[in-house]
Amino acid sequence: ETSKVKKPNWLRVKLPTGENYKHVRGLVDTHKLHTICESGNCPNMGECWGEGTATFMILGNVCTRSCGFCAVATGRPDAVDWDEPQRVAEAIYLMQVKHAVVTSVDRDELKDGGSIIWYNTIKAIKSLNPNTTLETLVPDFKGQQENIQRIIEAAPEVVSHNIETVERLTRQVRIQAKYRRSMDVLKVLKDGGMRTKSGIMLGLGEEKEEVLQTMRDLRNSGVDVITIGQYLQPTRKHLPVIRFVHPDEFAAFREAGYEMGFDYVESGPLVRSSYHSDKHVIPGFGI
Ligand code: SF4
Ligand code: SF4
Repeated sequence: ETSKVKKPNWLRVKLPTGENYKHVRGLVDTHKLHTICESGNCPNMGECWGEGTATFMILGNVCTRSCGFCAVATGRPDAVDWDEPQRVAEAIYLMQVKHAVVTSVDRDELKDGGSIIWYNTIKAIKSLNPNTTLETLVPDFKGQQENIQRIIEAAPEVVSHNIETVERLTRQVRIQAKYRRSMDVLKVLKDGGMRTKSGIMLGLGEEKEEVLQTMRDLRNSGVDVITIGQYLQPTRKHLPVIRFVHPDEFAAFREAGYEMGFDYVESGPLVRSSYHSDKHVIPGFGI
């Protein structure tokens, strides 16, 4: 179904160009890496890649899940590539980024849920780039403690797990996920001493009160940083955009978030989970 609403002009962005962009492009290709920037057709590629930042996606580019908003391919993933952690670490080294973001597809077919590759990747990045801070956007690992503990042990500066939408729409938006389970995963990460972060997309049919409730639930799970952005339909096969939320409404959610006690709130039409991620490392930066 095609979205029936027209894209407003606050969502128009510049096309990617420039030397830095080409540099990042080259490293991604030569290191056979995947980025969520490309898979997700992110509107900020011009800005982020131009500044030398990108979000790497590990564990391949085929996901065992089929979320209705996500452009990553669903299917049977390739075998685990044990050299991938080192290649990601090297690309980050060559990009000389001060702050890196890594995410992954979900690997529900693996006993460890991909958590060992996650652990190795975090360790490889830290050992080659001791001064680079790291945000890891992790799956729910089906709530399995052992796998979540591996992330805590590797201790990235920020661990995020996106709730993506309100409780009522979770089945429709993230079919294999569960709202409460994701809240619990965030709580476990917090209890493990992590700085935690989560994100919501707007425009999928949620009501304002439901958004506020989701924000409160995240706060109750101890989440420190929240990102709120506009959902954009990646292809016509994905969930339609029900509504383009006005920048003023995003600003109101930002204010509500600070009142609830979040440490940092990033809220705006072009906000993505990994947008301005470098600022999410520092406690109190947004206040
Ligand atoms: Fe990539 Fe995130 Fe920037 Fe989009 S906002 S281009 S996904 S780093
Ligand atoms: Fe996309 Fe993540 Fe859902 Fe897989 S689990 S379909 S990568 S959002």
